[in-house]
Amino acid sequence: MDKAIIAIDGFAATGKSTLAKRLSNHLGLPYVDSGALFRGITFLAIEKGWITDTNIYEKSIEEGISQLKFNFDSLSNALTLNKRDITNQIRSKLVSSYVSQIAKLPFVRYYLLKQQRQMGSSNGLVMDGRDIGTAVFPEADFKFFFTAKPEVRAQRRWEEMKADGYLLGYNEVLKNILDRDKIDTERKVSPLIKADDAIEIDSTYLSLQQVFEICVAKINGK
Ligand code: C5P
Repeated sequence: MDKAIIAIDGFAATGKSTLAKRLSNHLGLPYVDSGALFRGITFLAIEKGWITDTNIYEKSIEEGISQLKFNFDSLSNALTLNKRDITNQIRSKLVSSYVSQIAKLPFVRYYLLKQQRQMGSSNGLVMDGRDIGTAVFPEADFKFFFTAKPEVRAQRRWEEMKADGYLLGYNEVLKNILDRDKIDTERKVSPLIKADDAIEIDSTYLSLQQVFEICVAKINGK
C-alpha cells in the first residue's frame, strides 16, 4: 500500500501494537510505536533526576528535551535516543508508572507531535498510540480504536511481561493500566478519545488473528 497513514488508538494493553506490527508487515508500511517515544522522554527524565519520588521538575524536562532526536526502527522496534539504544529500559515498571503524567504535559505532547508527523511525512506508516487519529494524523486514511475489558487486558499484559522476565503481580499490572487510562482520558491536551471516523474494535473476546482479519477487511473496503 502506497503512502497510507493508518492510525491505531485505544486504551492501554488492548493489543494495538501487536496488531499494528502485523498490519505494517502485511501492507509494507513502516511501523511506529508512539508510546515508546513518551516512554523514552520519561526514562530520560528519571535518569536525569527531573522526576523524583516527590516532584516532577517540568522546567528541567522542558529545557532538557529540546535537543532530543528519537529514532524508532520499524523492523527491530528498537528505540534510540540521541543514538543510544533504550529499547529495554523504557518497559520498566518505573517508566510505566510515570509515563502518563509526563505524557499529559502540553510541551511534551507538542514536541512529540512534530517528531511523529515527520516520521509519517515521506512513506506513510502504521502508528499506534492514544491521539494518532485525533491529533497527530487527523487526516489518516484508516483509523481504528481499541477497547477491551480491563481484566482481560491486564491478564494478557501480565502474561506478556512474565514471558519477558518482568516480575510483576497481576493486580499491579491491572492498577497501572487503569491509572494510565484515567490520566490519558482526563488530560486537557489531546486526551484519549475515539475519533468520530474511527472504527471501534472491542478485542475482549477476539484473537489477534480475528482482529487482524477485521482490520484488513475494513482496509480492503469489504
Ligand atoms: O502505548 P503505551 O502503553 O506504551 O504508551 C505509554 C503511555 O504513553 C500511555 O499510557 C500514554 O500516557 C502515553 N501516550 C500518549 N499518546 C500516545 C501514545 C502514548 O499519551 N500517542
